[in-house]
Amino acid sequence: MDDVYRYIDENAPRFLDELKVLLRIPSVATDSEAVGQASRALKDHLDAVGMPSDLMESTGNPMVVGRKPGADGAPRVLLYGHYDVMPAGKRELWDSEPFEPTERDGRIYCRGVGDNKAQHFAHIKALEALRACGVETPPLKIVLEGEEETGSESLPGFVKDHRELLAAELCYAADGPRHESNRPTVYLGCRGVLGLELYVEGIGRDVHSGNRGNIVPNPAWKLVHVLASMRDPKGRVTIEGFEDDVIPPTNAERVLLSELPYDGPGMAGDLGVPELAGLAPAEYYERLMFKPTLTINGLVGGYTGEGGMTVIPGRCSVKMDIRMVVNQDPERMTALVRRHLDKHGFEDVKIEVHDAMKPSRTDLENRYADTIVRAVREASGEEPVVWPSLGGSIPQYAFVEGLGTPCIWSAYANWDEANHAPNENVHIHLFLQAVKMSANVFNHLREARA
Ligand SMILES: [Zn+2]
Repeated sequence: MDDVYRYIDENAPRFLDELKVLLRIPSVATDSEAVGQASRALKDHLDAVGMPSDLMESTGNPMVVGRKPGADGAPRVLLYGHYDVMPAGKRELWDSEPFEPTERDGRIYCRGVGDNKAQHFAHIKALEALRACGVETPPLKIVLEGEEETGSESLPGFVKDHRELLAAELCYAADGPRHESNRPTVYLGCRGVLGLELYVEGIGRDVHSGNRGNIVPNPAWKLVHVLASMRDPKGRVTIEGFEDDVIPPTNAERVLLSELPYDGPGMAGDLGVPELAGLAPAEYYERLMFKPTLTINGLVGGYTGEGGMTVIPGRCSVKMDIRMVVNQDPERMTALVRRHLDKHGFEDVKIEVHDAMKPSRTDLENRYADTIVRAVREASGEEPVVWPSLGGSIPQYAFVEGLGTPCIWSAYANWDEANHAPNENVHIHLFLQAVKMSANVFNHLREARA
């Protein structure tokens, strides 16, 4: 791989320039012009590195789908990434223009650089380098979607509708930040997410709390009772069956959890949560990866502005999310919440499902896991952190369920990439290392047997 790495170093300035062109396209999923521009630009890049591609229709934004043949007997590998980005948010919170890639202190700052443009672009530049150096790859396919930040709504259906086209033995992708230790990170799964809103009706309009106090029902009080019924003061969720389907970590997984780097006191100080200081790593990671959550995201209703306003709200709601672990599913969880409400006399509380992404996990023993960890270790010179599961949610299930293909993903961005936040950034040296990691992953998967 020395030739390949040298090629990457020699061409680094051009790779960066090309990345910056992509970064200037403000491809938020709802901006159809930018979405078109970004998807066409990626198609051109794939074509140029010997991976002929098409823009394919989906129920939402176009999918960029490419294919290239590779070594006989090697596993077919499906790559995934997303060209859509989060909106920039408030301009004044950024130190430079959100969509003008700006170099400072060895980093590129731009919306979408870490999430996910530099990460999937690393795969594409790896293909260029391998081709230039005459190194064969396994048979590769790629799908780049344009709706990840809005919940990947079209992806599962698209994958199911194109099973044959996308069929593969392994799905590999790069997304997310590295572990806080900044060691390269490989992860085998993720939690799912279910976004719910619960509505409690009052009389439909705000009224004077004196003229109507004790007369009209107050939906805010009712909402308080609804929420209090769902979780006890110790933090245990009291929705019946909430953890019934949870599969505890295997012994091998527990060992792995206990070996993950964990700086309890540092984290406790950083987050201002003293109890983290004394937590054993396995317990910390089990909470994060193997247990579901029930979170109140925000309460809506009544008067919350400055000063006081003596009203009885006409209607209230709560936005919640449930992070699900493997073997839990959004429909079943929604049904549990419904049953809980009915059982507690809250039959009239309405539930709206805002979004749902299923969890997924690939077995630690998966035959390609070692190959990828070794390839990442070699290319980075560091021991990768292997996560059984991300705490967050990514659309791996689209491939696991739709194709029956296991997913193993890496995180190429620095731990403090600030994705979704102002001043999103990627270390330039980590981007170039990412190109090498992708190249070495493809190199090793070529030698693996399907
Ligand atoms: Zn994101």
